[in-house]
Amino acid sequence: MEANNKDINLIVHRGTHEIGGSCIELSTNNSRIIIDAGEQLPSTDKNLKKSTVALPNIQGVFKQDNLDQKIKGALISHSHMDHYGLLNNLHNDIPIFISKASQEFINLSYLFTPSEVKIDSCTNFESGKTFCVGDFTITPFLIDHSAFDSYMFLIEVGKKRILYSGDFRTHGRKSKILNKHFKKIGNQIDLLLLEGTTIDRPSKVLQTEADIEQEIVQTIQKNNTITLVCFASQNIDRIVSFYKASIRTNKLFVIDFYIAHVLNIAKEYAKIPYPSKIYKNIRVYYPYYLAKRISEQGHQKLLYKFKHYKITKDEIARNCDKIVMVIRPSVLLDLKKIDNLDGASLIYSMWEGYLNTPSMQKLKNYADSKKMKFSKIHTSGHADVESLKIFINKINPKVIVPIHTNSPEKFITLGGNIKILSDGEQFKI
Ligand SMILES: [Zn+2]
Ligand SMILES: [Zn+2]
Repeated sequence: MEANNKDINLIVHRGTHEIGGSCIELSTNNSRIIIDAGEQLPSTDKNLKKSTVALPNIQGVFKQDNLDQKIKGALISHSHMDHYGLLNNLHNDIPIFISKASQEFINLSYLFTPSEVKIDSCTNFESGKTFCVGDFTITPFLIDHSAFDSYMFLIEVGKKRILYSGDFRTHGRKSKILNKHFKKIGNQIDLLLLEGTTIDRPSKVLQTEADIEQEIVQTIQKNNTITLVCFASQNIDRIVSFYKASIRTNKLFVIDFYIAHVLNIAKEYAKIPYPSKIYKNIRVYYPYYLAKRISEQGHQKLLYKFKHYKITKDEIARNCDKIVMVIRPSVLLDLKKIDNLDGASLIYSMWEGYLNTPSMQKLKNYADSKKMKFSKIHTSGHADVESLKIFINKINPKVIVPIHTNSPEKFITLGGNIKILSDGEQFKI
């Protein structure tokens, strides 16, 4: 059979009516590929606790099944758990395709967080460079998202062309990159898998990362003592916003050694500040539990890497009015040992849902007991409705399949030919 006569089957195994846990399959007669293998996000409902990893119903892919020889590979769009968290459950023989930075961030999470996913062998792709997996020709495109080095995929079989948006936004520090890709992709797209995380949120233009930086500056200036900040440790855009705000307000930017390692990876791929002689206002502290974890694993090298930029608890206490300090729930013990935190400013700068987790509540209770001034400054990692409309207009796809959304029915408001699928449903392209 000629390649351009091949039928392509799409199955969204998970994500048609859900944010997170993304898992998509494309197949021809002789090739199957998996696009993202994500774990479900924690429920925002305090009473619902996720006990085990739920696997979507896919034949011949997971370790407990016999491997289907038609499975040619798994593509991972970015280093968020809801896109890679199931990798450990995949057969070891399935080739993994992922960017080098994403691989490094996932492996860093393995060392520093409870994540159990580690990627030893894989093929690294690069933006704009086409590669083949079975019948599929794939071109990844770097996009703007809250995970560093995130990608969308153009997937072609013969003349058929599918675009998977991945998770993206247009209000971060790479806001202009999408327009360049649109020119390369053109508008002959048979099917667009489009994320719609924000589609059911009140319609408003989202703050840009630059707006966030400005708001942080104002919040720091309002207070004459230490500013504590809490954000997702691998959200590089946000780290940069806090770093820039610290520079603008003449403060030391105090990070823990996990974030120091995050920056140390990111700096290989972009101009990113990191603890060094060049970026003198960045100092590094060593939280007790994190240091214990890393030293028990035998990774002393990771502990000592930034020792020249270390700041002690005493130094922090003595210089409270000159410091912006990154914290997380696991550093509560360390915070309790730092004097002079009364009346501090605490900026919460991540997804609202995490605020309800027991560990975050403990941190918040401690902050309340110290009469800290609490503020939320955050912007989404996902495109607003206006950006989704522009995306559709530029690409003008024949069919749009909603994904990574709680409300696929709201896609109707975006225009275009919307096809709402159910998880596990087959769709011929
Ligand atoms: Zn996601
Ligand atoms: Zn994401």
